[in-house]
Amino acid sequence: MILIFKPDAGSAHAAKLLSDIREKGILTQEIRGGEALMVGLAGDLSGLSEDSLMRSAVVDRVIRVSEPYKLAGRKFHPEDTCVKAAGRAVGGGSLAVIAGPCSVETEEQILSIARDVKLAGASFLRGGAFKPRSSPYSFQGLGLDGLELLKIAREKTGLPIVTEIMSQEYAEAFGRDVDIIQIGARNMQNFPLLRDVGMLGKPVLLKRGPSCTIDEMLMAAEYILMAGKSQVILCERGIRTFETATRNTLDLSAIPVLKAKSHLPVIADPSHGTGYWNLVEPMAMAAVAAGADGLMIEVHNQPEKALCDGQQSITPALFSRVMGKVNRLHAVLNEPA
Ligand code: PEP
Ligand code: MN
Repeated sequence: MILIFKPDAGSAHAAKLLSDIREKGILTQEIRGGEALMVGLAGDLSGLSEDSLMRSAVVDRVIRVSEPYKLAGRKFHPEDTCVKAAGRAVGGGSLAVIAGPCSVETEEQILSIARDVKLAGASFLRGGAFKPRSSPYSFQGLGLDGLELLKIAREKTGLPIVTEIMSQEYAEAFGRDVDIIQIGARNMQNFPLLRDVGMLGKPVLLKRGPSCTIDEMLMAAEYILMAGKSQVILCERGIRTFETATRNTLDLSAIPVLKAKSHLPVIADPSHGTGYWNLVEPMAMAAVAAGADGLMIEVHNQPEKALCDGQQSITPALFSRVMGKVNRLHAVLNEPA
């Protein structure tokens, strides 16, 4: 619901009405851009009658918002959000590239890849320390030791780090040490995890569940945003379809759909989105052409020896070429008319 106040509504009267509403446990958010004061209301509105709001001397109009995601949606927040993570921007007109191996394996591996992706122009280093593997017998990641190696790589290269949290158990460590906390596709609807990560006050990279609709993804973002502390970056990473030629089907149309429905920055992951290294470059280009604010790309110095996702990892040399291409494309697409 959106309340539009009368132009002559005294600020004290408006503030009193809003504080009465907040006492019912409802979130209020000022919507910028209009001349009159506009405030979005989110939460359980069943105890709030539209009639009684309209009878208030300060309310001009009440607009119902049908989408279940209020904080992630554009109606409460018409202008694009630029997420700042460790001083770097995701959204706001730049192209943010997050690159690195699927999993952190050794100090030598993560340092070598971190140096290479930095040289090629990546803005963030990724690397899984806790790995959500389909088989319990596959490499599960180095856990907290992997996080320590990521911190060393950050210290040596200056690249902020992005890594996946799988359990609330490590919330404190992630809140303290990680620059962008990733929620993986498998945990996109782990609602207690979403709520707890939303309390950490760190930017969150939310990957789309392989069987989730766009609206479900936005509702997951809503869980994180509800605490009012963390910002969210949305990531299209491919969904399950009947097609078997690729690991997942990268849903390119989700990029403009998400950007129309939400103010949050949207990035794409052509590595998990396709499952094959040779498809990463064309789908990275396609995602930028579709309006993505950034990319997440798996890069490995020895893909054939990678402990996880080697078949979809590109070499540092190819990554460097992809960076040149996506940056040129992004610049052309964003030339002033
Ligand atoms: C990853 O980024 O390494 C990963 C496991 O991604 P997803 O959750 O999209 O499968
Ligand atoms: Mn991976």
